[in-house]
Amino acid sequence: MKAAVVRQNPDGYADVVEKKLRPLKANEALLDMEYCGVCHTDLHVAAGDYGNMAGTVLGHEGIGIVKEIGDDVTSLTIGDRVSVAWFFEGCGHCEYCVSGNETFCREVKNAGYNVDGGMAEQAIVTADYAVKVPEGLDPIEASSITCAGVTTYKAIKVSGIKPGQWLVVFGAGGLGNLAIQYAKNVFNAKVIAVDINQDKLNLAKTIGADIIINSGEVNPVDEIKKLTGGLGAEASVVCAVARVAFEQAVACLKPMGQMVAVALPNTDMTLSVPTTVFDGVKVAGSLVGTREDLKEAFQFGAEGKVKPIVATRKLEEINDIIDEMKAGKIEGRMVIDFTK
Ligand SMILES: [Zn+2]
Ligand SMILES: [Zn+2]
Repeated sequence: MKAAVVRQNPDGYADVVEKKLRPLKANEALLDMEYCGVCHTDLHVAAGDYGNMAGTVLGHEGIGIVKEIGDDVTSLTIGDRVSVAWFFEGCGHCEYCVSGNETFCREVKNAGYNVDGGMAEQAIVTADYAVKVPEGLDPIEASSITCAGVTTYKAIKVSGIKPGQWLVVFGAGGLGNLAIQYAKNVFNAKVIAVDINQDKLNLAKTIGADIIINSGEVNPVDEIKKLTGGLGAEASVVCAVARVAFEQAVACLKPMGQMVAVALPNTDMTLSVPTTVFDGVKVAGSLVGTREDLKEAFQFGAEGKVKPIVATRKLEEINDIIDEMKAGKIEGRMVIDFTK
């Protein structure tokens, strides 16, 4: 079967190779892959930014159909449509795994990183960790929910936002546009989108942002304070990679507000200790989502509350897609189509 793998000397691109799958273990399932989205994390893995993963099959936004199951598998049946997600498997018994926080398991396995991922004609998953795609959800859109969707859905959960409260989304790109849809259509928040790109902001407006702010033109913190009657927003979610966005995301909060970091720039931010103490603001990180989060995020997609922007391409075009992503030319997600 064909697969996109990390090069022997990782240089940010992938090789499309013939690969033979190992035999299935008793707790695993073999998938015929249908679709797999290309994520910025794949670019980092392909570049060796998180260590040399040469030969690993990329991809953690995979959707496939169960073709075979191991002897002990009871959670899946042949023909099920399931995910290959970044959170591939936890140990199942540590305090994080048993308390609904399995993505923080110290023994975690991540698809397309330290285990083979979904950017291949076939993939092997641990059956209990593959999440079923519900009826009514387009599998191409499901691939995006497997990563960007569940990540932003979980971050909004972590923010603790309640209906009618103000939530600010910094960055209106691939992650941000999904954050806006979940915040608006699932959590019923009043949503402010902040970006420096007017096209992305205009798109944010059409998908449900109540207010858009171009932070290249005005100070978003002042604007947000004005809009919220002087106090600030209850919560903010940072899907942008600029350091200033993280700092503004704290500064725009009302006392006891909550900032949630989702984007992952390789940088530090400044945090005023007096502001943190006097205003009781909270700063948290959020990492992808659990199986249960993904199940919920899928269901909201199936109900039409959230619609990822996707386009399909062929596996052979993987390095062209990587170049286009590096150049910032892609709106939404490019998804490799294995069905043709
Ligand atoms: Zn991803
Ligand atoms: Zn664990």
